[in-house]
Amino acid sequence: MSFVSDKVSNLPPYLFSEIQQMKKKLQEDGVDVIDLGIGAPDLPTPDFIVDKLAEESKIPANHRYSAYSGSKEFREAVAHFYKKQYDVDLDTETEVLAVIGSKEGIANLMHATINPGDMVLVPDPGYPVYETAVHLAGGKSAALPLDDTNGYAPLYDHVDQESINQAKLMLLNYPGNPTAATANYDTFLKAVALSRANQLLLVNDAAYDMITFKGYKAPSVLQVPDAKELAVEFGSLSKSFNMTGWRIGYVVGNREVISALATFKSNIDTSQFLPIQKAAAAALRSDFSAVKKHNTIYQQRMEKLYKAFKKLGIKADKPNGTIFLWAKVPDGFTSMSFANKLLHEGGVIVTPGNAFGSRGEGYFRVALTVTSERLDDVIVRMSQLNLKEVTD
Ligand SMILES: *Cc1c(COP(=O)(O)O)cnc(C)c1O
Repeated sequence: MSFVSDKVSNLPPYLFSEIQQMKKKLQEDGVDVIDLGIGAPDLPTPDFIVDKLAEESKIPANHRYSAYSGSKEFREAVAHFYKKQYDVDLDTETEVLAVIGSKEGIANLMHATINPGDMVLVPDPGYPVYETAVHLAGGKSAALPLDDTNGYAPLYDHVDQESINQAKLMLLNYPGNPTAATANYDTFLKAVALSRANQLLLVNDAAYDMITFKGYKAPSVLQVPDAKELAVEFGSLSKSFNMTGWRIGYVVGNREVISALATFKSNIDTSQFLPIQKAAAAALRSDFSAVKKHNTIYQQRMEKLYKAFKKLGIKADKPNGTIFLWAKVPDGFTSMSFANKLLHEGGVIVTPGNAFGSRGEGYFRVALTVTSERLDDVIVRMSQLNLKEVTD
């Protein structure tokens, strides 16, 4: 007898927790483990946001339930952000919804939009949460292949027409995890056209929209004319403002979808703590100097590691954003054998690319979430590993 549902028992093992167990074991053995596996910012939340939370927490009116869709103040701040950042107009009543982190929002979106057996196109390689969210909602996922031949833009030609015909929803994630790939406007233009032709709901997960380097500005899918007819976009404070533990994000766009998700969620949660929404609103209305400061730090770390990888013969595309470097494992390794070698012989944790889908095989992902000094240690340890020397 089991008290556990098939849904839960059939979930794939969460690779990240297995790696964390291994880390704990090595640390108990006295190894100084450097963890480049976890995709969460190491830097603190900016002071002005923490101060705002502290201040708002003392006001009794803020201790009550929030409106189901999030406070008006938060939704207005999201609309203000979209106007300023993307020149996109949003109706705060019908086109903006607060979520308790985009992970929650994406998982519940599946329940609100797909029926059991419906097909969803998910990027491969991609954030593993998408596939499990589809599974938990009783849907089927088909891979939307991405590779380095075209900068990880969707390879629609590699998806059979049958899957596209069956699909109800397509997920994109630019700037992307794990590939660190960024989209240009044209990528979204094509995605909207394909979604229109095939009657797909288009969902872009823009968790890294603000983390960009050297003048690159990430576009929004809602900048494409009439995209709101078929698209929604998720955003999160987690990465751009180092607020992973705060659990606050938003979804914007198509009002039918926003309304369905709001209805579904209103039966499960009652939105986020009001002081957190108010602090997040302050972040979205800020001048983004804190974000720029963090981006400079991520970029410096990325450049340092990119240069060192080049010397070691490890190939990577230099990213325009995100907190990741996505690199090819050296010849003779699989993703897993390379990650294992780094962990057991170097005490360095990276995420094997196959954890993100079959097209991630042959790659590994590094999170740029340790100090520059720690990255120096990583570089020393990797150079001692006897990876093949390049002589060009
Ligand atoms: C980190 C991450 C998220 C999760 O964001 P939360 O708002 O903290 O739930 C969503 N999508 C991608 C691609 C991420 O890497």
